[in-house]
Amino acid sequence: MCIEPTGSMRLFVIALWVGLLLVGLGMRDAPTRRDSDWLIRVGLEQGAFAPVLYVGVSADSLRWVDPRTGQTLGVGAASQVWELRRENGRFVARCGQAQMAAERLVAEPAGAGFVQVGASPNALRPYRGHLEWVEREGKLLTVNWVRLDDYLKATLPREMPPHFHIESLKAQAVAARAFTMRRLNRYRQWGYDLCDHTPCQVYGGVNAEHPNTNLAVEATEGEVLTHGGRILETVYAANCGGHTAPIEVAMTGTQPLAPLRGVPDTDADGKPFCSLAPNFAWELTLTRDDLERRFPHAGRIREVAITQRTAGGHVQQVRLRGDRATLTLTGAEFRTAIGVGRIRSLMFEVQPQQDGWRIAGRGSGHGAGMCQWGAQGRALAGQTYRQILGAYYPDATLVGAFGQ
Ligand SMILES: [Zn+2]
Repeated sequence: MCIEPTGSMRLFVIALWVGLLLVGLGMRDAPTRRDSDWLIRVGLEQGAFAPVLYVGVSADSLRWVDPRTGQTLGVGAASQVWELRRENGRFVARCGQAQMAAERLVAEPAGAGFVQVGASPNALRPYRGHLEWVEREGKLLTVNWVRLDDYLKATLPREMPPHFHIESLKAQAVAARAFTMRRLNRYRQWGYDLCDHTPCQVYGGVNAEHPNTNLAVEATEGEVLTHGGRILETVYAANCGGHTAPIEVAMTGTQPLAPLRGVPDTDADGKPFCSLAPNFAWELTLTRDDLERRFPHAGRIREVAITQRTAGGHVQQVRLRGDRATLTLTGAEFRTAIGVGRIRSLMFEVQPQQDGWRIAGRGSGHGAGMCQWGAQGRALAGQTYRQILGAYYPDATLVGAFGQ
């Protein structure tokens, strides 16, 4: 007889695992914790999720394994592309006359190559680690099991330009590692930890790696930020406009947290560290028609007023006075309703204009946590990654292999 773990047992196992992780991080003389100790599962929702998938290997050979038994089912050559389908409750891979079939199927490189996958046989993308599949919505969803360091190397260049100063890249590497570890198991109902696109971090596999960001990951091996005994969810945004935003103002549904309370991002002369960003200041015209289309129950809109602002300048509350209703929204709700690409940050002013409003602002992104352009400005001004992290996440502690 076989006992399937129940939901609560699974939660217990996860809690135990996270507990062990924290105990490990709190122990200064524990054996060095390496990123390569952690395998994470990335659901390739964007990269390889289709009714039929194609699988290959970049060099040497490909091994098909049944993960329940560890048995090798077969081996393919680098030139071969396998077609993978779901048939009668089994995953079936075919290439010419060869066929592998099992209830669970793993593809891994045998030798120096990378396993490749894609929805078209001509567009395979290489990934480190190994691949497994789950069925979701009648399609095949690829799960890439990858070491934490390899995952960070494949995501960092999409989070921060690799030509940024090495100290800002190192700060980004620590923030991304902590963010990743706080989000493990986020997609457990589908069998993975993180997805491969914007709700998580954009993950492009081996092709996305860059030597500069690889160096930043290696130089900060195992380091994360903690607060109150837990790993901090180290959010970050492109450009804060001169002051970072309290998390509860920046993101709907969040609670205040000391390290994410919002801090000035200015040098001794009062100049924002992020003012070197090419799009630091912005403006747009919001026409009356455009606004009324988005809030039809307000009727004819007479006034748009900012009724509450943080000490740092972020809009907390906006009031729309119409002839049928007066609406009160949080700044984040207003920004989402108009479009986050148009109202690029919460640091903005509103002025009435002929038949509309002029909105002028600074910064880009939600504004909470580390300011990425500010990190670049600070690094160019001589700050180390530890000083940068200390500035943007006050009250957080840097821990890990080379931590304190
Ligand atoms: Zn900034």
